[in-house]
Amino acid sequence: MSAPATFLDKLFDQGLLYDSGVDGLYGRSAVFEDVISRFEQLALNLGKDEISEAMVFPPGMPVPDFKTSGYMKNFPQLAGTVHSFCGNDHDHMGLIQCMAAGEDWTANQKITDIALTPAACYPLYPILARRGKLPEEGAYVALQSYCFRHEPSKEPTRMQMFRQREYVRVGTQEQTIAFRETWKQRGVEIMELLQLPHEVDVANDPFFGRAGRMMGVSQREQELKFEMLVPVNDGAGPTACMSFNYHMDNFGKAWGITLADGTPAHTACVGFGLERLALALFRHHGLDTAQWPEGVRKALWG
Ligand code: AMP
Ligand code: ZN
Repeated sequence: MSAPATFLDKLFDQGLLYDSGVDGLYGRSAVFEDVISRFEQLALNLGKDEISEAMVFPPGMPVPDFKTSGYMKNFPQLAGTVHSFCGNDHDHMGLIQCMAAGEDWTANQKITDIALTPAACYPLYPILARRGKLPEEGAYVALQSYCFRHEPSKEPTRMQMFRQREYVRVGTQEQTIAFRETWKQRGVEIMELLQLPHEVDVANDPFFGRAGRMMGVSQREQELKFEMLVPVNDGAGPTACMSFNYHMDNFGKAWGITLADGTPAHTACVGFGLERLALALFRHHGLDTAQWPEGVRKALWG
């Protein structure tokens, strides 16, 4: 007897996602993309009166900024860097021979200036830093980026390439903490509108190794990260579909972003996992969007 179809199998069968043969690397159908852009519109409407600007980033960022972010130090297991062939004619011959013989052909692949963006807000901070001191009102940016995390999985919600839509607040401690509280409440409102079961809980990032575990504990104790959890996957605990993060002045110090008074800026961000939110909707309301509850259709399609 064959194993029952998983949620991922059903998404492939329905033509919502396209399998590539690599876990966590999928094509998206027009229907899947439509749900994502409708969700983005809903989230953008909620913040439209507050933002100072909006940006969309490509899936790569400069290696020096990637290093400054601390991602390589704290999450080397998830990080990805872009490599390219940097050999001469002789090396090229060797490359072709190795590929033809099925041998390792990567000897002349050298790191480029680009790392794959692991979190949508990282490319923003160096841009703000280069502008000089922030105005009194700080910055309030809406942004979107494809992100990469090396975490192959059969759980459809754990992709290697996925998009985050974020709002980022850069300013004083009071401004950033108030921003995060507002978005925790708005996150709940969104989940109610979308009729998805949800729960907000304190969380930590998956810092690498033994020392990393201590960092995770400290992050939780200081309540620096909260997540919006939704049950999505077969036989697994709930999945984080949004996160609400306060970085204190760590990024302000790391990148040299300063307030009008010259002190390091505080930063906070709310991240929406766009594929995860779409998957949660398909999980709870069915694979045919025409059959979704009227209230949900109204919230997304108007
Ligand atoms: P984080 O920076 O880990 O808080 O991620 C922000 C949001 O991105 C999470 O709340 C998820 O919704 C989404 N996300 C994180 N990792 C993945 C992944 N591997 N696949 C899909 N979405 C993800
Ligand atoms: Zn962020």
